[in-house]
Amino acid sequence: MSTLDAPATLELQLPLDDMRSPRTPAQRPLIVTIDGPAGTGKSTVARALARRLGLDFLDTGAMYRAAAAIVLDKQIRRDDVDEILLQVAEANLHFDWATDPPTMLAWNKPMNTRIRDADVTAVVSPIAGLGQLRQHMVHKQRVIGHQHPRLVTEGRDQGSVVFPSAEVKFYLDATPEVRAARRADQIRATGRPVDEAALLADIIERDRSDSTRPDGPLICPDDALRVDTSSLTLDQVVDTLERLVRDRVPVI
Ligand code: C5P
Repeated sequence: MSTLDAPATLELQLPLDDMRSPRTPAQRPLIVTIDGPAGTGKSTVARALARRLGLDFLDTGAMYRAAAAIVLDKQIRRDDVDEILLQVAEANLHFDWATDPPTMLAWNKPMNTRIRDADVTAVVSPIAGLGQLRQHMVHKQRVIGHQHPRLVTEGRDQGSVVFPSAEVKFYLDATPEVRAARRADQIRATGRPVDEAALLADIIERDRSDSTRPDGPLICPDDALRVDTSSLTLDQVVDTLERLVRDRVPVI
C-alpha cells in the first residue's frame, strides 16, 4: 500500500466520527510545534523528539526548500509568482512517510539531497516570503496534520500560524555565533571547506528576512516555551523538550 500523502487538493474536513468516538491515549491527536531561527538544530531535535514520543515528524523547511529548488531548476524568475505557484502545484510536493526521515518528493522524485544545496539555501528565504506560496504550504501542512494527527512539526510559523491550537509549542533559540559554529561543524564533518564568517552573515540575513516578512514571520508565540540551546548539547535539548511535553501531556 502506498504511504504517500494524498494531493494537497484534499479538503480539510474532519469526519464526524473523529470527534465522537472515544480515543485511547495512543490515538489522541497530539501536535507539538517547534519554531525558531536557522541553526538551532530544530530538524534534528524534532526528529529525535518524535521518535522518543512515538509521533510523526514534519520538516516544513524541506517544503520551502523544495519550492526554491523548483524555482532554480526550472529557471523561473523570482518575481513571476504565478509561474512559481503553477510549477509548485504541479510538482505536488509531498512526503514518503515510509522512510525516516520522510522523503520530500516533487513530481514523485526525491528532493532530499537537492534541497540542502548551497544555491537553494541562498534563495529559500525570499521565496518563502511570497504570501501566496505560504498559503499553499500552510494548507498542505494542515492536511498533513489531519492525516498525521500525532506529529512533531518544525519550522518558523508552526505554532503561530499553522497549528495555533497545538498541545505543546516550543521556540528554540541560540546566539547567531553559536548557530554559525554548529553549521560550520556540520559542513566540516562532510570534508568540505568552511567560511565561518560567510555562514554567520548568511544566518543573520536569513533571521532578518524570516522575521520581517508580513506573512508568517518568525516569531515566538506567546504560549510557546522558549528554550535557549546555546549552552546545551543536542541530547540535552531533546531531554528538556521530552520532559516538558511529558509534564504537560501526562498520558502520551
Ligand atoms: O528550516 P530550514 O532552514 O530548512 O528552512 C529553510 C527556509 O525555509 C527558512 O530560512 C525559511 O525562510 C523558510 N521556512 C519558512 N517557514 C517554515 C519553514 C521554513 O518560511 N515553516
